[in-house]
Amino acid sequence: MTKLRIGIQKSGRLHEDSMKLLKECGIDVSNGVNKLKTEASNFPLEVFFLRDDDIPQYVEDAVADIGIVGENVVYEKNKRITVVEKLGFGKCRLSVAVRKGDDYDGPAFLEGKRIATTYPVLVDRFLKEHGVSADIHEISGSVEIAPGIGLAEAICDLVSSGSTLFMNGLKEVHPILQSQAVLVRNNGLDQDRMDILHKLLFRIQAVKKARNNKYILLNAPNEQLEEIIRLLPGMKSPTVLPLAEAGWSSVHSVLSENEFWDIIEKLKAAGAQGILVVPIEKMIV
Ligand code: ATP
Ligand code: MG
Repeated sequence: MTKLRIGIQKSGRLHEDSMKLLKECGIDVSNGVNKLKTEASNFPLEVFFLRDDDIPQYVEDAVADIGIVGENVVYEKNKRITVVEKLGFGKCRLSVAVRKGDDYDGPAFLEGKRIATTYPVLVDRFLKEHGVSADIHEISGSVEIAPGIGLAEAICDLVSSGSTLFMNGLKEVHPILQSQAVLVRNNGLDQDRMDILHKLLFRIQAVKKARNNKYILLNAPNEQLEEIIRLLPGMKSPTVLPLAEAGWSSVHSVLSENEFWDIIEKLKAAGAQGILVVPIEKMIV
């Protein structure tokens, strides 16, 4: 029977969230500490544990059919593969940083300077877009120490909070790419593998939607029902059930994370009481 082969990071920032996603998709995969590969027991999936940098190449070469990797790596490696789905974790940005005391006034600041980075392709593209010529020093790690040891005047590195930069006397001045983990696939998958991929994608999308939504239950005085229902988007329209206490109803609906607090405040102001918010495990619309 055909199995889909997926490459995920062996260890590092994307490992746990990648494993968690598979688990939430109902796919049982034993953890791969010291293992190179393993098979799911209840889904036609074989899991390879790899260095994240190698995943685009393996997927292009069809050593793996699909993979989970950061967009930063996908665009740096520039392989002939297809991004299928953004996964919503591993969020970070690739940014230019300079010494805290420097007056950065735009990309022209970098003219003639040395920039240390692990992302030479993306930095080169950024410089060209801005008509700046600078000297790119490719190094494989600890980029943030480069200015301190006299290797470069600026760096371009991944940032999430900025605390690593700060500790090294640097400041972030120019984000050049927003990144998150994505699912990528080989460009020449046969029909059997495409079918498995679509099954997996269906589950991933249900998990993603559930993560972005909350189930909400509240009590409303009947005279306020109309206004409260107007505030709730819901998948179709909210469920309204009479409460044992006369003149009151229970209202059930689904709210997305980004509109959540705003709507809760308005619901309270409109007279909603006993508001309960419950996580959703899967959501199929
Ligand atoms: P590997 O051993 O697999 O090569 P690595 O050291 O290259 O691992 P990690 O540091 O584990 O890579 O980061 C993997 C990915 O996590 C990055 O490519 C990026 O997409 C994402 N990421 C999210 N936040 C950050 C961050 N603050 N710093 C670095 N990477 C981040
Ligand atoms: Mg790596």
